Amino acid sequence: MTVDIIFFSAHADDSELSCGGTIAKLVKDGVRVGMVELTRGEMGTRGTPETRKKEAANAAKILGATFRRQLDFGDGNLRTGREEELQIIALLREWKPRLVVTAWPDDRHPDHTRTGRLVTEASFYAGLKSLKTDLPAHRPQAVLYYLQNYMVPPSFVIDCAATWKTKMRAVAAYKSQFHDPKSKEPNTFISDPKFLEMIDARGKHFGALIGVAYGEAFVSKQPPRVDDMIGAYTGREV
Ligand SMILES: [Zn+2]
Repeated sequence: MTVDIIFFSAHADDSELSCGGTIAKLVKDGVRVGMVELTRGEMGTRGTPETRKKEAANAAKILGATFRRQLDFGDGNLRTGREEELQIIALLREWKPRLVVTAWPDDRHPDHTRTGRLVTEASFYAGLKSLKTDLPAHRPQAVLYYLQNYMVPPSFVIDCAATWKTKMRAVAAYKSQFHDPKSKEPNTFISDPKFLEMIDARGKHFGALIGVAYGEAFVSKQPPRVDDMIGAYTGREV
């Protein structure tokens, strides 16, 4: 079995927060999506790795992912050695995605930065025929990056107006992490109600850039080919 695209993140909720609307939209359009997180989230202030794993499985079900895999590269000090690189290469050769999406390799959280770098490099190495593993070489068409803490000018924005509610349901699946008035766990940056307001505001901001209600932004090192130059600007004015 193969998938069309794999989203790799450092922590279980990174992909949902940054591009859950895009994942739901791709699935709605019949695209097969895989989700992989590189850590178990054991350094989190709230919840345990076990509760977070269940929450991640629920979120993947809500978004409609074909598979979700959790790796164990170490939360808070993510390892990026050859051993870890070979695990990413094995997943790429097994599922043969045409596109890979991951963290921008220069983010505030070092785990995000390391994930972006490791996944980018593994995506290239997975295509080396002389690198022998159990499976034949496979190289994705491109690695794209979602945005988290640091803002980089987007290469393109995906219209997520129709799937924003699904994204927020997937985010809400992480009950231990976000605002819950009944929770007795310590407050964190992301459990403050303002955090989800910020996610909403960011979605509206990126949406406004392309003339829709909600959007999610991506960075690509190579520009995407645009087939409909006029349609790409529908809903906007100079
Ligand atoms: Zn994260």
